Amino acid sequence: MSYDQVTVPDKGSKITLADPKTGELDVPDTPIIPIIHGDGIGTDVGPAAQQVLDAAAEATGRSVAWMRLYAGSSARETYGENLPDDTVNAIREHRAAIKGPLTTPVGSGFRSLNVALRQKLDLYANVRPTYYLDGVPSPVKNPEEMNMVTFRENTEDVYAGIEWEAGTDGVEEVKSFIEDDMGYNEMLHDGPIGIGIKPITEFGTKRLVRQAIDYALANDRDTVTLVHKGNIMKFTEGAFRDWGYELVEEEYDDVAITEDELWEEYDGEAPDDMLVVNDRIADNMLQQLLTRTDEYEVIATMNLNGDYMSDAAGAQIGGLGIAPGANFGDGLCLAEPVHGSAPKYAGEDKVNPTAMILSGRLLFEYLGWDDAGALVRDAVEDAIASGEVTYDLHRQIEGGTKLSTSEFADAIVERIHDLA
Ligand code: NAP
Repeated sequence: MSYDQVTVPDKGSKITLADPKTGELDVPDTPIIPIIHGDGIGTDVGPAAQQVLDAAAEATGRSVAWMRLYAGSSARETYGENLPDDTVNAIREHRAAIKGPLTTPVGSGFRSLNVALRQKLDLYANVRPTYYLDGVPSPVKNPEEMNMVTFRENTEDVYAGIEWEAGTDGVEEVKSFIEDDMGYNEMLHDGPIGIGIKPITEFGTKRLVRQAIDYALANDRDTVTLVHKGNIMKFTEGAFRDWGYELVEEEYDDVAITEDELWEEYDGEAPDDMLVVNDRIADNMLQQLLTRTDEYEVIATMNLNGDYMSDAAGAQIGGLGIAPGANFGDGLCLAEPVHGSAPKYAGEDKVNPTAMILSGRLLFEYLGWDDAGALVRDAVEDAIASGEVTYDLHRQIEGGTKLSTSEFADAIVERIHDLA
């Protein structure tokens, strides 16, 4: 494919799919990896992450041919549009990419570019690991108990974006359908109203829960927890839970049991070789994350619950500057930090680049570069443990040295060289 708005690097080659059934990749030693630095602090954390990832790749005998892509303000300036087709196509073609945050206006203006990217590329699982790095200040007593990965559905629920604004013909049409045709005429208050629709499908649920269970099995985890608000939203969130359990019976009967089976057949003691799939109601789950942190290992949930839960879990292990993420489709990965573009800090060389750097670790693991990923993690942990940190962590610890974004990246690269 040729691009109008993207320069193809003069070294490196494409990652290809070795086996469409298993999603196994064929990764060259110098893969072309698309990168979007992003809006706001993306201009700070993007280059910092690139520098660290380059160092880790080189230290493990590889290199990355970065392909700069544009979205958000950088795309508007250069191409006059928010999300050029070339950006979407280049990610699709190269299979593994990384992006910084993109700004979304609240209330009016264009819809989220992050949502658009995830939908256009059908990146249906947003994966957010939350684990503790030694030395990171935390608001809880035992942050090391947190070692959890959240699989958040990325295409349905509030991300479907099906909503109508107050005062429009559309909302009036939907309102009269709800009241007159569906019989909810006592329910809705008079006056301006906004209406949204929350779709949850069996297809969307099962492919998300499948990714969570496959991850748990491949990574020797003991439990997968389906998080939902099915007591209130019975036919959407309740159905998510039921379809999740149905999948266990249909596809994982020999390797996984449900919580009911755990008690009925095994008296609460799971056999060593069996994964337990259980479920929790979302509000209870949020408090259990604080009170029974180490009981939760892999979470599978819908979009909005997953957003709240993973940010709250992220706070327990040091905040948004630390929390990495990645979006996965079939044979496709787009890594990105959990945090947003924090416009007030943009271009100040101040914020913490750890979240974007550790998102790069997820990308490396997707390529099968686990050694490079481990090196990134160890170097970040080592720098933080020695008290060399950016402002966000520095304000929470005694002593320590406050570094800028670029100084912190340099400190990590130094440690990569020492550790390699
Ligand atoms: P945000 O950009 O994540 O920033 C909220 C606060 O989190 C910051 O003020 C800062 O707290 C802390 N923070 C975030 N990133 C940090 C970093 N790298 N290092 C240190 N601290 C960091 O959230 P927001 O202000 O709600 O959203 C701003 C824009 O980003 C919005 O347009 C939103 O739509 C967008 N957004 C994009 C994505 C994405 O691209 N995937 C995700 C979320 C939000 P302190 O000021 O307390 O230090």
